[in-house]
Amino acid sequence: MKLKLKKIKRTASIPFEFPPDYTIEWKENNSSESGITCSLLQKFLRCRQAFLYTIHRWEPKGNLGSGLLYGSMFHDFLERLYKRKKKMESIGIKTVFNNYVKNNKHDFRSVSPDEILRLKTLASVMAEMYQEFYKNDFKTFDFRSLEEEFDIEWNGYRLRGKRDGLVNEAGDRLLLWENKNYSRINAELSDILHFDFQCLVYVLATEAEKLMTVSGVKYNVVRVPQNKFTGSVKEYRDTIREAVESKPDYYFIRYDVQYTDRDKRKFGIELKAMLDECKALINGDIQVYKNVGACLGQYKCSFIQACSANSLRCYQRKQTRFPELSH
Ligand code: SF4
Repeated sequence: MKLKLKKIKRTASIPFEFPPDYTIEWKENNSSESGITCSLLQKFLRCRQAFLYTIHRWEPKGNLGSGLLYGSMFHDFLERLYKRKKKMESIGIKTVFNNYVKNNKHDFRSVSPDEILRLKTLASVMAEMYQEFYKNDFKTFDFRSLEEEFDIEWNGYRLRGKRDGLVNEAGDRLLLWENKNYSRINAELSDILHFDFQCLVYVLATEAEKLMTVSGVKYNVVRVPQNKFTGSVKEYRDTIREAVESKPDYYFIRYDVQYTDRDKRKFGIELKAMLDECKALINGDIQVYKNVGACLGQYKCSFIQACSANSLRCYQRKQTRFPELSH
């Protein structure tokens, strides 16, 4: 069998910008563009080349996928729900999602009206069912904060981020609250959440910030139904409702994860080493080549064109390094 290979066109390359114009250290630069977030560290873990593109604010031109848009919409609903501490009426839920789309026009700029309608319908019906399923949450959980940003010094580095929530536990202990939306959930998900990178970073950051013990994480996982949208809102709503009502535990899942002191200590040692390495990479003290093992897989790397053509022609620079943060 003959394999047809795609011809690789070399285009005029835009030079990658090195060295960078910022620092991750706490003392030297405290501007809105310095420091490091968990998502950047995760990129570093996956591929250092991708980390360098991202740290220089490069991103692919084009839209966020529907999955990401839906996740952000639902996240916004959860924040509002727990802040108001009482159930929303259907009409209120619809308004939340209409406003979300209106206030984030840029993200939806090339999404078709049909797809926006589908996303709003899916989010609305899941929101209604979520609050029915978890109707006792307002009595059960004592939220200390929701969607709170942190910006702290940790071992000489500036760690920044935003936690979904913090729940008070007995005594002076806290629990992280972490919302996740997944379309596919493997049987092994609950196993790997025991050493989830983001939550471990957030636990260490929160303990350093609040000077309290964070004993673990409560994962609030909502599975995204995969029903087909044929254009009829009523039919789509009904099929989702039917699917979720027939097995609610399949769609609404909660996992509790506790960390031992040893977990936290060992992770802290590794995190410090990782930050030292990030700094060396940013400063050009160590070099990196592409990590081919990370290009494909469950999620295709969005920098494949940059690496293969050695050009940033299909990419644009983000306005700010941390658009997810308010400053
Ligand atoms: S395409 Fe591959 S080598 Fe290039 S940044 Fe992405 S993961 Fe790294």
